[in-house]
Amino acid sequence: MNAIIFGPPGSGKGTYASILEKKLGPVKISTGDIIREEIEKNTELGKKFKDYYDRGELVPDEMVIEALKKRISESDCVEKGFILDGYPRTIPQAEALSKITTIHVIINLNVPDWIIIERLSSRRTCKKCGTNFNIKYLKPKIEGICDKCDGELYQRDDDKPEVIKERIRVYQKQTRPVLEYYKGKMQFVEFECSDPGIPPEENVEKILVELKKLGFYK
Ligand SMILES: [Zn+2]
Repeated sequence: MNAIIFGPPGSGKGTYASILEKKLGPVKISTGDIIREEIEKNTELGKKFKDYYDRGELVPDEMVIEALKKRISESDCVEKGFILDGYPRTIPQAEALSKITTIHVIINLNVPDWIIIERLSSRRTCKKCGTNFNIKYLKPKIEGICDKCDGELYQRDDDKPEVIKERIRVYQKQTRPVLEYYKGKMQFVEFECSDPGIPPEENVEKILVELKKLGFYK
């Protein structure tokens, strides 16, 4: 199964993709990770990526697609399929993707704005090691202090309600046309996250049921 997972910032789609990978096998892939790997391995492509980063410029779509093509042709993806997380973001990217592979299913996480705002605005991040906590759902043992390194916890500017609202708006505006592009071309699993108290593991079970109904897994 080759899938794409969509979901607004704070929907936990990265976590969902990781759990699906563990349960079903398809490799979770994000273009950010692929680019980082190419740079770390110092490949020809990695060197080019690094040049763009060093100049502070956006990496061109063609290079990202090239890296993606390379990654999904590796044996693990060929055998088990993949779940793309955070890509494509635009129609030209979706079109380029369609030329290198076949996507079978779109998993779209629908999360009401209030849940995202509640979840992200209660997030606290460690200044030293970057670990995330949540003052409602994942409290640190000592208030304001990181469990792992005793660093100080703070609220990132990105996680303030006004900024979150803007991030959701940008996401909706960017993603709507891409979802429209895929409508009618392939299967969709529309998943409603309406209760912030339900752990991702439980929600993934429901997504699995839908995937089975569509015939992807027995
Ligand atoms: Zn820490």
